[in-house]
Amino acid sequence: LVRLRQRLAGSQSGLGRGLLALLSRDRLDEDTWEAIEDTLLTADVGVAPTQELVGRLRTRLRVEGSTEDPRAVLREELLTLVDAGMDRRLQVSGDDGKPGVVLVVGVNGAGKTTTVGKISRILVAEEHSVVLGAADTFRAAAVEQLATWGERVGVDVVRGPEGTDPASVAFEAVKEGIDTGADTVIVDTAGRLQNKAGLMDELGKVKRVIEKQAPVTEVLLVLDATTGQNGLIQARVFSEVVDVTGIVLTKLDGSAKGGIVVQVQRELGVPVKLVGLGEGADDLAPFEPAAFVDALLG
Ligand code: GDP
Repeated sequence: LVRLRQRLAGSQSGLGRGLLALLSRDRLDEDTWEAIEDTLLTADVGVAPTQELVGRLRTRLRVEGSTEDPRAVLREELLTLVDAGMDRRLQVSGDDGKPGVVLVVGVNGAGKTTTVGKISRILVAEEHSVVLGAADTFRAAAVEQLATWGERVGVDVVRGPEGTDPASVAFEAVKEGIDTGADTVIVDTAGRLQNKAGLMDELGKVKRVIEKQAPVTEVLLVLDATTGQNGLIQARVFSEVVDVTGIVLTKLDGSAKGGIVVQVQRELGVPVKLVGLGEGADDLAPFEPAAFVDALLG
C-alpha cells in the first residue's frame, strides 16, 4: 500500500486531495458540488459514475446536522464504485493436466509485452512453470523484447521468424507448454488495430488454434491509463472481437487519471485485475479496490 501510494503520489492522488478539500468546506453549496463533479470528470471517472457518486454524496452529506465524516463517506462511496463486487482472481491454471492459456491483447504501446514479462515473473516466483508465446510477429522488436524478458525471468519463449502467422506461434507455444508439462502459457499478441474485421480474424484464429489444445483461462486486455476516452474506445473494439475476462491497466504511475478504473469496468463489464505501476519487473500488482481508494485519498 505504501508503494502504491508512492507511485500514485503527486499526480493521481490529486484526485483524492481535491475531493477532500472540496468536501471539507463549511457549506456544501451548488458551486462545491459542481467543482466536485469537475474533479471526478477530469480524473476520468466518467459521466454516469460521477453523477451516481455525487448523488450519493449529496444525499448522505447534505442532511442538516449530518454527523457523518465526509472523508469516511467519500471513501465508502468511492470503494463501492471501484469494487463493483467483481471477482478479480486470475485464472492461470488449466485442467486435465493441460496448461491454462492466458491471451494478452491490446493496442500497440499499451504495455502488452512488458505485462507478459511481469506476469511471468510473478508466476515463476509462485513456482508455476510458464511458457511464453511471442505471437506479436509483426514487430520484430516485440519478439526480441519478449525474448529478453524470458531470459531475465528464466522461462522459455516460443517464437517464429518475423511475419510468421501469429496463430502458428500461439499453436507452437501451447504445444510446448503441453509437452513440457507447464502450468501456464502466456501468449503475447499483435495490437494492430487495422480494422475490426481484420482484428477479429486474427485474434479469432489465434484463440481457435489454442483452444484445440488447451483451455484459454484468461483473455487480458491491456489498457494504457493515460489514453483516456480514446483508449476506452479502442478497448471496446477488442472486447467486441474477443471475450475479455480481465483488464490490466498500465501506466497508472504518474497518471492523473485513476478514475478510468471505474469507467472501464463499467463500460466493458469486466474487472481490472492487475495494474502497471512502472516499467520495472516488479511494477505490476493485483488490483485491490480498498488499497487503491486509500492510495487515492492519500
Ligand atoms: P506493447 O506494444 O503493448 O507490447 O507495449 P510495450 O510492452 O512494448 O510497452 C510500451 C512502453 O510502455 C514501454 O516503454 C514500457 O516500458 C512502457 N510501460 C509498460 N507498462 C508500463 C507501466 O505500468 N508504467 C510505465 N510508466 N510504463 C510502462
